[in-house]
Amino acid sequence: MRVLVIGGGGREHALVWKISQSPKVTDIYCAPGNAGTAEIAKNVPIAADQIDQLLEFAEKNEIGLTVVGPEQPLVMGIVDQFQEKGLRIFGPTALAAELEGSKVFSKDIMKKYDLPTAEYETFTSYDLARKYFDKETGPIVVKASGLAAGKGVILCQNAEEGLNAVDTIMKDKSFGEAGDQVVIEEFLEGQEVSVLAFSDGNTLLLMDSAEDHKAALDGDKGPNTGGMGACSPAPIFTDIMRQKVRDKIMLPLISAMKSEGRSYQGILYAGLMLTRHGPKILEFNARFGDPETQPLLVRMESDIVPLFEACIDGTLDQYDLKWKPESSVCVVMAAKGYPGYYEKGKEISGLAEAGALPDVTVFHSGTKEEGGKVLTSGGRVLGVTATGADTPSAIKKAYEAVSKIQWDGIHYRKDIGYRVSN
Ligand code: AMP
Repeated sequence: MRVLVIGGGGREHALVWKISQSPKVTDIYCAPGNAGTAEIAKNVPIAADQIDQLLEFAEKNEIGLTVVGPEQPLVMGIVDQFQEKGLRIFGPTALAAELEGSKVFSKDIMKKYDLPTAEYETFTSYDLARKYFDKETGPIVVKASGLAAGKGVILCQNAEEGLNAVDTIMKDKSFGEAGDQVVIEEFLEGQEVSVLAFSDGNTLLLMDSAEDHKAALDGDKGPNTGGMGACSPAPIFTDIMRQKVRDKIMLPLISAMKSEGRSYQGILYAGLMLTRHGPKILEFNARFGDPETQPLLVRMESDIVPLFEACIDGTLDQYDLKWKPESSVCVVMAAKGYPGYYEKGKEISGLAEAGALPDVTVFHSGTKEEGGKVLTSGGRVLGVTATGADTPSAIKKAYEAVSKIQWDGIHYRKDIGYRVSN
């Protein structure tokens, strides 16, 4: 079978890497891909949001399965358009993907179906959003409702920061149209965990847990990013907790989406805060997380391709999911300045040396190949991923590999996995 993976980040490199191991697959294409996917797939120079061109490519090349990495094309309706043409594609429809595309929609569903989440109010009026802070003084979270590449969430310690956040999102339009509406919600304390599941609309198959590191700097300081590293499993997420999340959060959500006429097929990603009062939902995403996918897929033993197909066919109840017992850690190497301004086009060295270390896979994110050289081309550049008997040994191997890689202006966190290993 010919498979097309859409996207060009670390998540997509990990997906291509995993899919390439399936005996069912003959050819893999990645649109647009990066220098890493080019080593195992044929890169196709079509951007992830060019749906018409992707559709034409899939029809012409007899693609048997398309797997969508990023949220943007899902929210734009790529799945609906492929399905209309009778093409097999893995991911939720536009109506289902609104769970990620609109935080207002997502919070309203959680409220309607009584799912545990932070208390919140939504605003379309800038003045009313500002007025909210006449009565609220304590820590609070202000979120742009639309898609903002994981960056439209501002954690505020007091009313002054809250007012600044409303200005940034609604007045300065730092996240564009995503900030036409805001969600202002209770600040939750606790440890975060990401739980991803395959869904065929009725049945859920939960993956092992993973923990993301969103903040740019060590000790969870600095601005939020798309993710600076991740590890799997997250031992805090016990089997009992897992069952609770499945039965009280994820399954009710799937059945709620069905009742709303938005049957959910694809990856359901629940971002959770484990609070003193139990797990609460921070957000739902409609796709694999980046970078959580990297440490998860290096641990996944099962062939992933039949699982994608089962989600499309509604036969997920006939499958299970096997995991390697090892732990894994992914350290994101970013360009200096990310998530703010950063330079591109820097030559990367040491990739082969790092990738040759035992139990290490270097997933590319923002890279491109030019004249035989690998250059940086994005904020998050690489996801150096290692497995080990336990988290501390995976951390050691990942950072050893990181130390072999060089370019002018590297930034990475030195403490990925610290919560798990302490
Ligand atoms: P989201 O995109 O909504 O998951 O938010 C991005 C990140 O902001 C989360 O991974 C958390 O680290 C943080 N965050 C979001 N909502 C809250 C909240 N209500 N309380 C505390 N932290 C939050």
